[in-house]
Amino acid sequence: MDLKSSHVPPLNKVVLNRYLALPQPDNKVMATYIWIDGTGENVRAKTRTLDQEPKSPADIPWWNFDGSSTGQAEGSNSDIYLKPVSIFNDPFMLGKNKLIMCETYKYNKEPTATNKRASCVEAMKAVADQYPWFGIEQEYTLLDRDGWPFGWPKGGFPHPQGPYYCGVGACEALGRDIVEAHYKACLYAGVNISGTNAEVMPAQWEYQVGPSQGIDAGDQLWISRYLLLRIAEEFGVQVSFNPKPIPGDWNGAGCHTNFSTLAMREPNGIEAIDEAISKLKIRHKTHIGVYGKGNERRLTGRHETANINQFNAGIANRGASIRIPRQVGEDKCGYLEDRRPASNCDPYAVTDIIVRTVCLNEKD
Ligand code: ADP
Ligand code: MN
Ligand code: MN
Ligand code: MN
Ligand code: MN
Repeated sequence: MDLKSSHVPPLNKVVLNRYLALPQPDNKVMATYIWIDGTGENVRAKTRTLDQEPKSPADIPWWNFDGSSTGQAEGSNSDIYLKPVSIFNDPFMLGKNKLIMCETYKYNKEPTATNKRASCVEAMKAVADQYPWFGIEQEYTLLDRDGWPFGWPKGGFPHPQGPYYCGVGACEALGRDIVEAHYKACLYAGVNISGTNAEVMPAQWEYQVGPSQGIDAGDQLWISRYLLLRIAEEFGVQVSFNPKPIPGDWNGAGCHTNFSTLAMREPNGIEAIDEAISKLKIRHKTHIGVYGKGNERRLTGRHETANINQFNAGIANRGASIRIPRQVGEDKCGYLEDRRPASNCDPYAVTDIIVRTVCLNEKD
């Protein structure tokens, strides 16, 4: 039977807390290894005990998992390696316990098909002297266990969009507990979360991570997604990164990626921004190819998007592929906003191609 329609009895959190409060031996650290599975969109995680608190990823042993159960390997040659790459504090287990972002490698030590970080880290190293910064706006939708948006009337629709964006009130803001818990958990973990807001569609929300430099942007965004999924799990709510969860007159969900280099942030950086936009224009199709599955359902030219088949840029234009924020136009320096990435994009793939196109002049 479909688990989504079955009733899962909530476990007793008071009883749980008796055990979470147990003292933990000094020489034991719980390390949760987190990785991207074969879909390229979902995360998986498993936990092991380390003997001491790791200070850098090099202190943490490689591990492995059954890739035939995650869409990453054949059953006959199923072990996939986990390579620890960044460390975060664990807001669930507290203390010295850690969340470890990992890359995945095949038996022959080649990156798996969904390991987009390996290429990204190369690109970020090559452009380190340009100090690339990313601020990523992650939109998502909360769903009930039956798959219908959280707080929406069963078998029906809420009032049309209008009162929900940055909305306040029981019938405007649906699921805020999850949003606030997630915000604090990100801060505790060491994710550079910079804000949050309710979105245009009810039960849709956004948070921003950044500006973060280079590879940190992808690492932090993936950990922030793990935290969101875990926290919503505790509340019995699903998180959807579907770029257009409800067809029709309801906004889709994106992952706007704000980007700058040192040159763009310095006086008259607008010239570097304009130059970047002309490079992005030439590679529009290639970028769209890595900006998320199902993005054609979202990038329709309506609901604050540009049409997927057209590239355009403009100051303060939320119907553009690339927007130059008004303040940036006035200051003549700052950053650009790539509005094309979908909510389910892989931020490693997105930041990788942006840097390769703009900073490394890669062409098709
Ligand atoms: P919007 O007006 O598009 O909703 P947000 O406030 O949601 O914008 O997000 C803007 C993002 O841009 C934030 O994550 C912020 O940290 C980031 N940002 C600000 N300055 C820069 C910069 N110079 N380079 C890259 N990102 C930046
Ligand atoms: Mn086992
Ligand atoms: Mn935003
Ligand atoms: Mn938004
Ligand atoms: Mn935006």
